[in-house]
Amino acid sequence: MDQPFLMFHRPSLDHEEEQSVLEALRSGWLTTGPKTKAFEREFADYVGAPYAVGVNSCTAALHIALIAAGVQPGDEVITSPITFASTANVIVHAGAKPVFVDVEPDTLNMDVSQLESAITERTRAIIPVHFAGHPCDMDPILDIANRHSLTVIEDAAHAIESAYKGRKIGSLSPMTAFSFYATKNITTGEGGMITCQDAGLAEQLAVLSLHGISKDAWKRYTAAGYQHWDIIAPGFKYNMFDLQAAIGLCQLRKVERFWQRRKQISQIYDQAFGELEEICILSCKPYARSAYHLYTLQIQPERAGLMRDEMLDALQQRGIGVGVHFRAVHLHPYYREAFGFRRGMFPIAEQASDQILSIPLYPAMTDEDVQRVVSTVKAIIND
Ligand SMILES: *Cc1c(COP(=O)(O)O)cnc(C)c1O
Repeated sequence: MDQPFLMFHRPSLDHEEEQSVLEALRSGWLTTGPKTKAFEREFADYVGAPYAVGVNSCTAALHIALIAAGVQPGDEVITSPITFASTANVIVHAGAKPVFVDVEPDTLNMDVSQLESAITERTRAIIPVHFAGHPCDMDPILDIANRHSLTVIEDAAHAIESAYKGRKIGSLSPMTAFSFYATKNITTGEGGMITCQDAGLAEQLAVLSLHGISKDAWKRYTAAGYQHWDIIAPGFKYNMFDLQAAIGLCQLRKVERFWQRRKQISQIYDQAFGELEEICILSCKPYARSAYHLYTLQIQPERAGLMRDEMLDALQQRGIGVGVHFRAVHLHPYYREAFGFRRGMFPIAEQASDQILSIPLYPAMTDEDVQRVVSTVKAIIND
């Protein structure tokens, strides 16, 4: 009966990543260099974007994307309240005001029908978040952005493998930000990438990611001859470095294999939980290829006879790791106090915020692990 604790997430890393990091270590070139450039190229090819810029997190990617979009103090940027801290925090870092649009109940993505009414003359950009890897309804978002001259920056932290109407996420908007954090679909420990469609913008992002110093500053120590660099913008220290890229190159080659396994596990969960009236699960729209990043259960407290937090405790006590993605950003103390957000403003997001939890979903899970999650959730509900 006493089984080992099943971690909420465990990355899939093996001798290939170990070998690749060793090689990078022994090469003597640790920081941004040939491996970063190779990873950028392969990642851009994978998502079908002409350009990709490696950075040290998705948070950094979103931040410099806002700067490159020309977001200034006093501007407004629209996003979803069901997201991680950084999506909203970077808007504040850019000096702008976060504006939220409520989510749709069946995907927890931004409800596009409410988007246009959130736009004011100060709105500058929209950050759609592809929650759990299910893509947002991008055609109307891009159309509305176009009509109001707004820049779309996608938060694709969950969405490396996602596609919308057959088009890969990363190839659609001016800029798309990805994460390689330890729990994401592929990992470099910490890391991120921005894809974009325009050479000038890619250049600007690369400059912003490395102190704002001029083109190819990372080459300044090579045999090509000494080159002076110029500061052309007050940039950031956000560059990806080669030890990260060494891991990322290996991970990227396995991305579709990992995706297949998570899809399989998601389907087992769908079958197990789809019929239960105590729990709601999210749906997959006809236009979507999901990345299956998270598996979300939404507890119906009256029917289940327990609250979400009781479910979290019960699962942990029975040896199953859990997560909450996410409690609505606008209800966190900073956002309430700084911007006056309160409960009642985004009812669908608030209900989800109180009721959702995430169960383990990763390729290193065995079939027995998956069955154990299913039977434990069911046992708690039937208790
Ligand atoms: C993880 C995450 C981020 C931040 O990614 P980092 O690489 O850790 O900066 C941003 N947005 C969402 C939705 C995330 O889940």
